Amino acid sequence: MADLAAEWDKREQFDVQERALLPSFRLGMQSKARGFEFSPHPSFMIKDLAKKAVLRSGMLKLSAGRLGPNAAILMYHAVQADPSLHADLFGGIAHSEAVFRNQVELLAREFRPMSLSEVSEYIRGNGEMPKRSVVLTFDDGYADNTETARPILNQVGVPATFYATVSCIEEGILPWPSRLRYAFRSTSLSEWTDTENKRWTLRSPSEREQAYLASCDVCCKLSGRAQDAFVARVAKELETCESPEARGLMMSYDQLRALVRHGHMIGSHTMTHPNMAYVTSDEARNELTESKRLLELKLGVPIKHFSYPCPALSPHWNAETLAETGMAGYETAVTTDNGLARRGNNLLCLKRIRPTKTVEGLRWNLESAFAGRAG
Ligand SMILES: [Zn+2]
Repeated sequence: MADLAAEWDKREQFDVQERALLPSFRLGMQSKARGFEFSPHPSFMIKDLAKKAVLRSGMLKLSAGRLGPNAAILMYHAVQADPSLHADLFGGIAHSEAVFRNQVELLAREFRPMSLSEVSEYIRGNGEMPKRSVVLTFDDGYADNTETARPILNQVGVPATFYATVSCIEEGILPWPSRLRYAFRSTSLSEWTDTENKRWTLRSPSEREQAYLASCDVCCKLSGRAQDAFVARVAKELETCESPEARGLMMSYDQLRALVRHGHMIGSHTMTHPNMAYVTSDEARNELTESKRLLELKLGVPIKHFSYPCPALSPHWNAETLAETGMAGYETAVTTDNGLARRGNNLLCLKRIRPTKTVEGLRWNLESAFAGRAG
């Protein structure tokens, strides 16, 4: 059991976008001519078989009972009928609609979906947390959240929290990582020089991905106008224009209001999606308070929940960030750190679980987490 559990596979814990930021992953990256896809290695297939055997045996459920009260907060981004259609914008963060439906049905059948408000009360110590509690959250504010994910959630009866990137909602533009990714994937140039005069060749998809990731390490420290200026400068240097597909991919305020009417909650994901641990405290304060103010003004509901973006670099929050988040009036905030939310946790830095892109992967991540293999 211990050996099999030690097979815990980092590969399934991270979205492609986030995985690409890990040094070990960067080294091992394989790319195809288009789409930056990743081939399964035979060792992963063996691990999949081992995981299935553990799940069938019920061993993980047996060990779940000895942990204290906890809940799994799941982190989704986009849900699309065909995620490959917008791969140059979204990278690997989109779930297919079919997989998402099966995942939500699994959650309703085998776990206890509940709202973030309910779980935050249990974490505070009020009431008894039901076993196998799960919470669905969505980062960024994509239109597909309401057009594709919301009908499935409502059919199955599962509530969710949607964290909006408010400048992107206001302007109808994708968060900066998507705009930069598109520039590096669509340029016809074969070379780019970064701010430190380092030259990057752009002849293969993997070379383009490396240059893109280097630009993310710079851009994630910027917010507001400085961030816009950086993205515009890189696009100009790469001689690219905005993607013709990019408009209409973010939610409108009307769509956010519709989510509230359908029983879901809205939270903030900042104004401009920086790494909150790398911006100045004035910038962090503005990202926290202005996004809250605008969402409350436009939606007419209190905004109590926040999600720290994790676009590049580590960490993506620190003690100062948490203090600012509390002072801005948020009751809860979620990170992208892997693990369960437990009774007594600091509500301003709750861990989450990655849902992976398969139903079995989701079941494995949840069963493993509830058995004490995460966080
Ligand atoms: Zn985000």
